[in-house]
Amino acid sequence: MALVNEQFLKLQANYLFADIAKKVNSFKLSNPQDKIIRLGIGDVTQPLPQAVRKAMHAAIDEMGERDSFRGYAPDQGYPFLLEAIAKNDYASRGVSIETSEIFVSDGAKCDTGNIGDILRKENIIGVTDPVYPVYIDSNVMAGRAGKFIDGKWSDIVYIPCTSENDFIPELPERRVDVLYLCYPNNPTGTTLSKEQLNKWVNYALENNVLIMYDAAYEAYIQDPDVPHSIYEIKDAKKVAIEFRSFSKTAGFTGVRCAYTVVPKELNGFVAADGASVSLNALWNRRTATKFNGTSYITQRGAEAVYSPEGKEQVKEIIDYYMTNAKIMRDCLLQCGLQVYGGKNAPYIWLKTPHGLTSWQFFDKLLYELKIVGTPGVGFGPSGEGYLRLTAFGNREDTIEATERLRAWL
Ligand code: PLP
Repeated sequence: MALVNEQFLKLQANYLFADIAKKVNSFKLSNPQDKIIRLGIGDVTQPLPQAVRKAMHAAIDEMGERDSFRGYAPDQGYPFLLEAIAKNDYASRGVSIETSEIFVSDGAKCDTGNIGDILRKENIIGVTDPVYPVYIDSNVMAGRAGKFIDGKWSDIVYIPCTSENDFIPELPERRVDVLYLCYPNNPTGTTLSKEQLNKWVNYALENNVLIMYDAAYEAYIQDPDVPHSIYEIKDAKKVAIEFRSFSKTAGFTGVRCAYTVVPKELNGFVAADGASVSLNALWNRRTATKFNGTSYITQRGAEAVYSPEGKEQVKEIIDYYMTNAKIMRDCLLQCGLQVYGGKNAPYIWLKTPHGLTSWQFFDKLLYELKIVGTPGVGFGPSGEGYLRLTAFGNREDTIEATERLRAWL
């Protein structure tokens, strides 16, 4: 008899976006003539940059020749991509990362969800709230979350980020062992300055906390004072794992490529005797056992993101989405709404008007304006009373959505 992992039974039955899709689909069925504008799910719409496609075509041709055919990729990624990452994403910002500290993967979702494999069940997990749901759900699956009571997991430490604290998380009052930080933030679109992030790194150093730093949206940062990597902060390599992705940077949500940095100087500890253990070695072991590499074609495509043409084309895509964000931000502010994010991130975080709950405002937008957002409460209790809009739509739809909103508000 196969016994199941009961922790899975604790998960709420539906994933947030499945709930939203259900509502949207049933509205569509009864109103087939209406044009629905989707500014809900965080998926990109602009096609792959030409430099990426060219590199992938060339890689496919190499795979078609006996002499240049490749089988399994190296566990941590091909040296050409590891070197491009170390040089362009880190050395260019004065951060020294060795290629052996980088692990290329098929997505930051998998990496942030799987990283808990190398951690003991008893760790106390801290998250900023609202939060990217993967951090919580993967810890529920691992048995670290406790019971779900009044919208919160009893064993998880929630650190509220709301307009009251300007979305700057305060150091937690309860002890945490592992802390997830995501900047630029999904869903609020807000960021931390170097000084603010420095406070968290010092807290982690002083309290032996492991930071999981998700920088999937770093390419959207416009402000020079906002760090792109946690390793821009002194001694962060002793306390942090960093996650990056090509998904939102270069349109790879369907292609799938990301990477995780686990510095050599980062240690975890053995519960029995406090001995320190290299997390890089553990993640390497885990990766070698459970993952067989990102495809050669994909890694060549990712490498092309760092070529001069690739950089230029990626910048154009980011500028396109950030112009969408500005169009939405300006319109909503002119309409007198409280609007956050959208300056260094492709997400707009909106306070719902007239004291509506997140789902009430979601329904109004869907049924009256035919616009799909994401209810803030779906990202955690501190998201109640907010709604997320994304800048990933195409320009025409974004403008049409703002016109509908302007007329309505
Ligand atoms: N991290 C954050 C904060 C995200 O919002 C997302 C996707 O929406 C991911 C990670 C997933 O990235 P990937 O497509 O690389 O799995």
